[in-house]
Amino acid sequence: MKLSICPTPIGNLRDITLRVLDTLNEADVIAAEDSRHTRKLLTHYDIKTRLIRYDDHHSQAGLETVMDLLRSGKHVALVSDAGMPVISDPGIPLIRQCLEEGIEVDVLPGATAFVNALVLSGLAADSFTFYGFLPRKQSELRRKLAEIKPRKEVFIIYEAPHRIVKTLTELKALLGNRQVVLARELTKMHEEVLRMDIASLMEELTLHPRKGEMVLLVSGAPEEEISTTIEQELISLLELGMSKNDAIKAVAQSRHVAKREVYQVAMKLK
Ligand code: SAM
Repeated sequence: MKLSICPTPIGNLRDITLRVLDTLNEADVIAAEDSRHTRKLLTHYDIKTRLIRYDDHHSQAGLETVMDLLRSGKHVALVSDAGMPVISDPGIPLIRQCLEEGIEVDVLPGATAFVNALVLSGLAADSFTFYGFLPRKQSELRRKLAEIKPRKEVFIIYEAPHRIVKTLTELKALLGNRQVVLARELTKMHEEVLRMDIASLMEELTLHPRKGEMVLLVSGAPEEEISTTIEQELISLLELGMSKNDAIKAVAQSRHVAKREVYQVAMKLK
């Protein structure tokens, strides 16, 4: 009984390791985020292992089915649609349950989009933060960006093509016109990397909209900005229309200070 976490290609079908192919062949069952999607990969590599659906992002219903297979001694391979399961993909509840029950979990190395994007970007890669998909709701997004704003390291997000300009608009409003790198269609025929500031990228994407999968890397806070006072940060959030309470919470979170301290500054604002 073993759960093997198996990364699959993020575009180019040949980006799969020999060990992943062996594991997919040897496992009793493959649990896949989308079985129709994974079927294409299995057909390409002539793998005939039984396939079931497992997607804990949409429903927890499959968890017990997979756990029962593992408990009865079966070897289950977990795959998502692309790249490493768990990375903005299903898998965590299953891994936690296995760890809790003492079932072996094996993670096989392989493709993950943000690693390719980071290396290709040429940005400082010694320290970075990966957020996956940012919140969709504007108020939550703004709170998150206020928290991110003072951080010095590069941060990385995943974004859908139809939302990228909207997200860039929010990024520019809250973080200023930072340098960004957009890495698109990695490992595929139309792989493209755009390196510029947010305003120029917005202009480029408005003039020539891009489709396909994308990773966005955003440079960290410039030195002079890190010394912004609590007062200035509050004012800029209030000017963006954030409520006083939300702004206080966001500033306290981003600066790791007590809400009371920010509240006192907010009370003195006109
Ligand atoms: N598990 C995947 C991984 O390891 O990267 C990520 C899954 S997440 C649901 C899908 C997102 O990953 C896409 O919306 C896109 O932001 C990013 N992504 C996946 N493949 C990509 C590619 N070939 N080029 C650029 N971004 C990609």
